[in-house]
Amino acid sequence: MKITDVQACVLKGFGEWVLVKINTDGDIHGIGEAYPSHSMGRGTKEVILGMKGLLVGEEPRDVERLTQKILRTNVFSGATSGVVVTAVSGVEIALWDIAGKAAGLPVYRLLGSKFRDRVRVYADVDPRSGTGNPRQSLVAAAKMAVDSGYDAIKIDLRSVRREAGTRWNRAISTAELREMIEDVRTVREAIGPDVGLAVDLHVLADVSSAHRLAAALEPFDLMWLEDPLPPENIEAMARIAAATRTPICTGESLYTAHEFRDLIQRQAADIVSPDIPKTGGLIEARKIAYLAELYYLLLAPHNTSSPVGTIASVHACATIPNFLALEYHGLWVPYWDDIIQHDAPLVQNGAIAVPERPGLGVELNRDVVQGQLLEGESLFD
Ligand SMILES: [Mg+2]
Repeated sequence: MKITDVQACVLKGFGEWVLVKINTDGDIHGIGEAYPSHSMGRGTKEVILGMKGLLVGEEPRDVERLTQKILRTNVFSGATSGVVVTAVSGVEIALWDIAGKAAGLPVYRLLGSKFRDRVRVYADVDPRSGTGNPRQSLVAAAKMAVDSGYDAIKIDLRSVRREAGTRWNRAISTAELREMIEDVRTVREAIGPDVGLAVDLHVLADVSSAHRLAAALEPFDLMWLEDPLPPENIEAMARIAAATRTPICTGESLYTAHEFRDLIQRQAADIVSPDIPKTGGLIEARKIAYLAELYYLLLAPHNTSSPVGTIASVHACATIPNFLALEYHGLWVPYWDDIIQHDAPLVQNGAIAVPERPGLGVELNRDVVQGQLLEGESLFD
C-alpha cells in the first residue's frame, strides 16, 4: 500500500478544528485531527500540507517510522515542540486509521491491551450562555452537565480570567480569592459530594497566590486544580504540588514525552493532561502515560477536538491503565456529534464506548462538515 495524497481543511468547532485526510492507492483512506493554531492564523493546516512530500509513496502502515521521518527531517525547524508536533499528531492519527482499516482491527487493538470498554469523559462547564448572574449561570451550567449524566465536570475560575489582559503580576487579591472559593463552594453544594469536580485556573496565578488558592480549596475534595501557574517552570509547579493536598493537574501546553519527562520525574503534578492531537499523537500519549505510571500519576487528557480527535483519544485512553478521564467540550457545540456519521449520541452516561469497527471507527458526515468550513476552506475529496 502507498500514500498518494495528504489533504487538510479547517472548520468552526470549539474554536477551530483542523481535519486531515490521507489517501492511498487502494480503497482505504484515513482521517485525523490536529490541534489548531487559531490565535495567530491557520499554521497547522499549512504545515500538514507541507508534509506531503515526505509521505507520498510511503507505506502508510509504518506509522511510527513515518512520524519519526517527519520529526527527524525537521529537527532544526521546530520538530521538538509546537505546530510541527501538532501537525504530525493529526497525520499520525490518520495513519492509524488506515492501519486499522487495512488490518480489519480497531486502532486500540494495534496500540496495546484494552483496559476498558467505555472511556469516561468529564464535561467542561461553559456558563457563558446563562442568563443569571455569573455565579448563577455557572451553577446552572454545572447542574445541567450533571443532569445529562456526567459524573465529573470542570469549571473555570472566572474572576481572575476576566482581568487576565491587565493583570501582569498575576497576583490574586483577597477579595478575588474569596469570590473563587465561593464559586467552588456553591458548585460543590449544588452537585453534591460524589460528582468529580475539577477547577481550571488557566495559568494565571503567581506562586504565592497559587499556594493560597490550593490550600483554600482543600476542603472541597477536588479531582484537581489545573494549571495554577504558567507551564514553563516545572520547579515552580513542583512547589505548589508538594505543598497542597489538592491534586495539581497540568500538561496541555507541553509537547512530546520529552517535555512531560521533566514534569513527571520532578513530580510537579499529580495528574498530567496531554492534548493527544497536539502533543504528538497516540504513540506519544502512551509514552507519556507510561512515564506517569512509573510514578503512580494519573492521565486526564485535555481535549477540545471534534469527534475525530476525540475518538482518536478514546482509542489511546482505552489502552492506558492510569487513565482518569478525558475532557469533553461538545455540550456547548450543537453540531458536535453531527460532523461524523452516527446512530446515537457518542457520549452516553458520561462515557464514550470504545469503537470496535476497523480503524478509528468513524467517518465524516460530509454535508455537515461542508456547512461548518471556515470561509475560504474547501472540503477534501
Ligand atoms: Mg485547561
